[in-house]
Amino acid sequence: MIASSAASTRSQRRTRSPERAASRRRLWLDFVNTDTAPSAPRGDLLRDFGTLLRWLVDARVIDTDRAGGLSRRALLQPAAATATLVDARRVRAAMRQLAERGATSTRTREDAILEINRVLGRSAGTRRLEQIEPGRYVRVFVPTGDAFAGLMIPIVESAADSLVLDELDRVHRCADPRCPRVFLDTSRNGTRRWCDMGTCGNRAKAARHRARGANRLDTASDTEVR
Ligand SMILES: [Zn+2]
Repeated sequence: MIASSAASTRSQRRTRSPERAASRRRLWLDFVNTDTAPSAPRGDLLRDFGTLLRWLVDARVIDTDRAGGLSRRALLQPAAATATLVDARRVRAAMRQLAERGATSTRTREDAILEINRVLGRSAGTRRLEQIEPGRYVRVFVPTGDAFAGLMIPIVESAADSLVLDELDRVHRCADPRCPRVFLDTSRNGTRRWCDMGTCGNRAKAARHRARGANRLDTASDTEVR
């Protein structure tokens, strides 16, 4: 009982963290947001192969056993690990384009589809459905052959889901020009503007408040001049 209530507290904490709440669990948007180095205390989350693996474990794309195997393999095959990292960043850049412009640009959507199909087309393996905790399920891809292959498949499949579900017009970049985070707007009326109300939304509210105060001062000094 204790273990399960601790687990549920942990999962509540996870749900409340800005990254997860912001994207409403669209894996590909979480992945795009790994590049938001200025706003992430840990910097670019795909700095090296190790941080890529850590992110994939945190996002439950792979389990710790497989991550352990992959990091041992990376020591033996550093060039292959580096190529995997470069490829992950390439996928991320393409997915960012899709998130930011996919709703309005046909060309961007076509490019993203090519990228998605490039990733989907080059790996052979087995697909499985697994329960990670009661009520939470993940689709797992177990590659055959190259150990590094297939790591990006769940990411691009999640982007493919957004295309299939026709929800790209609900995917936006945060309205704060300093914030590059992307999010899925799940609000009823589709008017959400910020990645997170607790951070960027609040900052915007405070700025509007200050601007109103400054306007009042301007009006007062104008009156004095006249
Ligand atoms: Zn933001």
